[in-house]
Amino acid sequence: MQCSFKDISKLINKSNHIIITGHLQPDGDCLGSMLALYLYLQDIGKKVQVVLDDEIPLSFRFLPSIQEIIRPSQTLCSQADLIIVLDASDIERIGNLSTQTSCPILNIDHHKSNTNFAEFTYLDLSAAATGEIICDLFDYLHYDPTQAIANCLYTAIATDCGFFRYANTTSATLRKAAFLVDFGAQPNLISESLQMRAPEYIAILTGVLQTLEFFHNQQIAAITVDLTKNPLLDSEGFIDYPRYIEGIRVAIMFKIVDENTIRVSMRSTDIDVSQIALSFGGGGHLRAAGCTLTDNYLNAKDKILAAIENMLRDD
Ligand code: AMP
Ligand code: MN
Ligand code: MN
Repeated sequence: MQCSFKDISKLINKSNHIIITGHLQPDGDCLGSMLALYLYLQDIGKKVQVVLDDEIPLSFRFLPSIQEIIRPSQTLCSQADLIIVLDASDIERIGNLSTQTSCPILNIDHHKSNTNFAEFTYLDLSAAATGEIICDLFDYLHYDPTQAIANCLYTAIATDCGFFRYANTTSATLRKAAFLVDFGAQPNLISESLQMRAPEYIAILTGVLQTLEFFHNQQIAAITVDLTKNPLLDSEGFIDYPRYIEGIRVAIMFKIVDENTIRVSMRSTDIDVSQIALSFGGGGHLRAAGCTLTDNYLNAKDKILAAIENMLRDD
């Protein structure tokens, strides 16, 4: 059921033990939105746990209360009255937690590919980030963010719109960012924390750039990252290299997780890559989407390229 902020407020009011979670391979929007809502629910006296079934990238260490995020094995979902799933468009995206629970799920999200999997869904496709929706919710609830919450929400919003550069940036996005700065958000600290790289990052990047390939009359550019050689590799920002090449309409990053698992990230200038990701069991937005293929690298690459070329031809 699609619900309103009024419904969300009622759901929260009648729940005492709330679990908040987000998607696997968490990003700034997922983590920032989870922590902002966590801090708010704590503030209003709820018993609340913030749970994630994945590792948290070290670059997000600076987020307030990040150390309070626990793994599904450390919580008893059966004792919760409500699970809030943030920034995830389908139930598989939250990992193991989904099999542990029978209590109602409230999903707050902004993905075009949302599958309407929850009992209660608040979906706003015009929001650049789930963090924007949380901001609107706090506004509806007349709740002024603390500095910690403002930093979490600023991180959520800024990371999902490429620090206010992507097409999803609206005047509302910028207004919310300004509002959060008024409440203590620190844009310089946030961007510095997220841009800081280990020295090895640059060494690895030079290798990854050697994998750059062009397809479809130089309209598709792809890079490949081999995680089997370096499992903890931070590949944040790598996809910007194929993305910002003149004439490129679709940029792809293939990540080889193991011999038969290929994670794919896609960015586009004008075609709907969320459709392509969905057709491979993934999801995302019009211009940024991803999926994971259970196949070897060469097959996965052929399949993704064929799907993109098909769409570019139809265009
Ligand atoms: P990424 O390329 O990982 O930065 O993801 C781009 C967008 O696609 C984000 O909004 C992700 O949440 C979404 N996305 C990536 N992988 C998947 C997946 N396997 N299933 C659903 N959505 C995904
Ligand atoms: Mn996300
Ligand atoms: Mn998001």
